[in-house]
Amino acid sequence: MIKFLDLEKVNNRFRREIDSRIKTVLDKGWYLQGEENEKFSKDFAAFCGTKYALGVANGLDALRLIIKAYGFGVGDEIIVPANTYIATILAITDNGCTPVLVEPDINTYNINPDLIEEKITSKTKAIMVVHLYGQAVQMQKIWDLAKKYNLKVFEDAAQGHGAMYQGRRTGNLSDAAAFSFYPGKNLGCMGDGGAVTTNDEEIYLKIKALGNYGSDRKYHNLYKGLNSRLDEIQAAVLDVKLPHLDADNEIRRKIAKFYLEHITNPKIILPKTYDEKATVWHVFAVRTQNRDEFQKYLSDNGIQTLIHYPTPPHKQPAYAEWNNLSFPITEEIHKTIISLPMSPVMTDEEIKKVVDVINAYS
Ligand SMILES: *Cc1c(COP(=O)(O)O)cnc(C)c1O
Repeated sequence: MIKFLDLEKVNNRFRREIDSRIKTVLDKGWYLQGEENEKFSKDFAAFCGTKYALGVANGLDALRLIIKAYGFGVGDEIIVPANTYIATILAITDNGCTPVLVEPDINTYNINPDLIEEKITSKTKAIMVVHLYGQAVQMQKIWDLAKKYNLKVFEDAAQGHGAMYQGRRTGNLSDAAAFSFYPGKNLGCMGDGGAVTTNDEEIYLKIKALGNYGSDRKYHNLYKGLNSRLDEIQAAVLDVKLPHLDADNEIRRKIAKFYLEHITNPKIILPKTYDEKATVWHVFAVRTQNRDEFQKYLSDNGIQTLIHYPTPPHKQPAYAEWNNLSFPITEEIHKTIISLPMSPVMTDEEIKKVVDVINAYS
């Protein structure tokens, strides 16, 4: 079976260094808010090109904390793509804000910048973009709108570690960005983890306090915060893997290039990119009319695939109030999308087999 993603193999490449860094943490007996976090947050900020990075407990918390730090709540609207993983939306409603859903561009699967302006009202506070499947959103029109209407821009960069737009990395394309280090992400830890990046010192300090019970110094609570911190073991693991992220993303680009050049089956719609560096191929998603049948065919032929995602947020029972809304492009994507195996540890034989099996599908 060709795995969608062989995580054990991904991490075993760095196993000796990871073991040794974890041992250092255990030997020191210091588990939270220590030197590993200090080092990793500096290194991750440098990677993204931002002034600040801050480790938090997971990607959803990173998103929640950003919205909370800006003080947005009940009555405030945040524009967000309808075509996203539900965490983006959860972070907005968790803060009491109203998500205003916008259809994606069918070519990039990312929010369609041309459909945003008509959704802006006097209550709009921010535009939250999502670099879906690892492709950086083309930000220029969004920056222009934010300037025109005095809005904040946030990034859900949970799938986009290292992707670039206009020579800048994701995480450095907005007022504040959220990353996830869930094990399967391009930069993943060995449990849950996340980060916020920003160039704004005030927001950085506020999120740092908010994630630590709202405390700016011990037993002094400035805000009604929560507890959301990256533990030292995860920070150590991430700091081992970070220096290899660019190389891993290059391998993903090579695999994607091979798929794009060699998958010729007319039943398969291949993904499109606007620039080689724009995407880090968190997933390589194709579309096909009889998706479920195609998935079974691949599985019968020894190829594991995943669906990102089978049901859009507005059709989930959790958002019953939206279930009657219609976002045809989003729904079409969810009906037809399927993610092929993609990871930096795939062998040439595996990549070739995926192509051959797909081309033989009729
Ligand atoms: C993974 C992911 C999240 C959530 O990250 P967690 O660390 O799992 O909380 C948020 N948004 C997107 C787009 C994601 O892919």
